[in-house]
Amino acid sequence: MKAFWNPAELIHDPQFFLQRGTVKKNFEVPARATALLDACRTMGLAITDPGAPDPLAIATVHPPDYIDFLRDGWKAWEAMPDHGAEMVANIHPAPEMLANGGRRSATIVGQLGWYCADTNPFTRDTWTSAQAAAAGAIAAADEAAAGRHAYALARPPGHHAYAARAGGHCYLNNAAIAAERLRASGAARVAVLDIDSHHGNGTQGIFWHRDDVFFASVHGDPNGYYPWYVGHASERGEGPGAGHNLNLPLARGTGDEVWLAAIATALREIRRHGAEALVISLGMDASRDEPLHFLDITEDGFARAGTAIAATSLPCAIVQEGGYNLEALGRLLPRFLAGFGG
Ligand SMILES: [Zn+2]
Repeated sequence: MKAFWNPAELIHDPQFFLQRGTVKKNFEVPARATALLDACRTMGLAITDPGAPDPLAIATVHPPDYIDFLRDGWKAWEAMPDHGAEMVANIHPAPEMLANGGRRSATIVGQLGWYCADTNPFTRDTWTSAQAAAAGAIAAADEAAAGRHAYALARPPGHHAYAARAGGHCYLNNAAIAAERLRASGAARVAVLDIDSHHGNGTQGIFWHRDDVFFASVHGDPNGYYPWYVGHASERGEGPGAGHNLNLPLARGTGDEVWLAAIATALREIRRHGAEALVISLGMDASRDEPLHFLDITEDGFARAGTAIAATSLPCAIVQEGGYNLEALGRLLPRFLAGFGG
């Protein structure tokens, strides 16, 4: 199996993180990628540089104005007097503002809140690293289109990014870009299965009206966990997408058996949808070893999840999402990937 990776994914190194009113050190750190890379080397995966991403592939998910903001926002931020060390939004357009004709601002402070769902920081290197991560997801999709499983060691992660909104450590939605790439490569129907412990709200939003990309997410109940507002079982998609979105929220402390049963349910629905290829949003933060742990999944649980997904015999583009215990990441990745063969 190929593991796609580019060292440019390391340079994005945000510091700011706001939790319960306290500014803390951000835990989406470059060392996460280093730990996963070491695990790939130990497994003997073919570590492959995907090169520069195809901008047209990114444009299948993200509109031009958002791409312009990601690329050029830092320059405007730096040109502003008294700017902070990182770009962090301090206002967002409230639904009432939008209902009253609110619109995108011409200046960076307004744009930052417009294009960001939360206090997710941007650095001068965010755009470079986000593109490198997306390139890996595109290359993994190309492998899956050729019938081979592949792993994209994507950092920063992507599943909280909407078409035109960053959030939750995510800027470009790598999994959605991979799904669109598979569609463009000829798969009539694709599924995204998200097993990160947080709901894949960005991916859900991107495919909400679509019947050709089925989205299933197994995650912690949003009533007590990020992203707080979406991820409920009642969210099934709309219009042509009605019935093509499946959320399986789980209670705090859920262990292996219930988690694996939810994954089995998602896989049954994915088969019923007639998916020809699968994108896996692979977060390891469902682990019981997570610092902010909500679910209680063991290493055996991750191994069994990998085996169950591989048993679908669908070609898989496996895209890295979260997981923040640096020591656990290096153990969990090989356990999960073991089911997919070498
Ligand atoms: Zn997560």
